[in-house]
Amino acid sequence: MTALVERVHIPAYEGRGVMLRAGQLLDIVDVEGQQVADLVAFDSTDPSEYLSTGHTVSCNAKVTLAVGDQVFTNHRNPVFTIIADDIGKHDIVVPCCDPERYSRDYGLPDHPSCLNNLRQARELLGVDVEVHGENAWNVFMHNRVTPEGDVVTDPAMNPPGSTITLRAERDLIVLVSACPQDLSPCNNFNPTSMELIVREDA
Ligand SMILES: [Zn+2]
Repeated sequence: MTALVERVHIPAYEGRGVMLRAGQLLDIVDVEGQQVADLVAFDSTDPSEYLSTGHTVSCNAKVTLAVGDQVFTNHRNPVFTIIADDIGKHDIVVPCCDPERYSRDYGLPDHPSCLNNLRQARELLGVDVEVHGENAWNVFMHNRVTPEGDVVTDPAMNPPGSTITLRAERDLIVLVSACPQDLSPCNNFNPTSMELIVREDA
């Protein structure tokens, strides 16, 4: 049995955050389907230790994540353990989308981005951390690395209500963006809302 601690709605094209204590569970819910959530996390007592996708690839010796796997900090300590996952497709290779992505690739420097959404989440949560897009875990992002080494983005597969459940392995600041990418297949050209649900053992 678990008890609800907090439920946070992330509107489409926006970012929100939560604070987690070690042992609490975080559900990330794709409310409407085919939506990617970009997540960064920091040790709340020492934010200079943070989720690092590069260290996660190194510690796990793979670029995929499955139930039972952990993601790691820049000091190779566990951040989360994946407890359940409806989809099992994630990206930990590319950074989150940022203003330069939309400026460089689309000529749209003012397009909403995950990096700015994560900064919005930081302001709303009132925490003082530096957000680095290269450390974002792109939850539910359906990127493939081909045998030739190409990185191909397919539309997210997740039907409405798809959920991944993470157990915090330390006290954490967690910031999440409902990815606003509407110019690539990432969110099937239709960014929608997400939900964060924090639970703990009753
Ligand atoms: Zn994005």
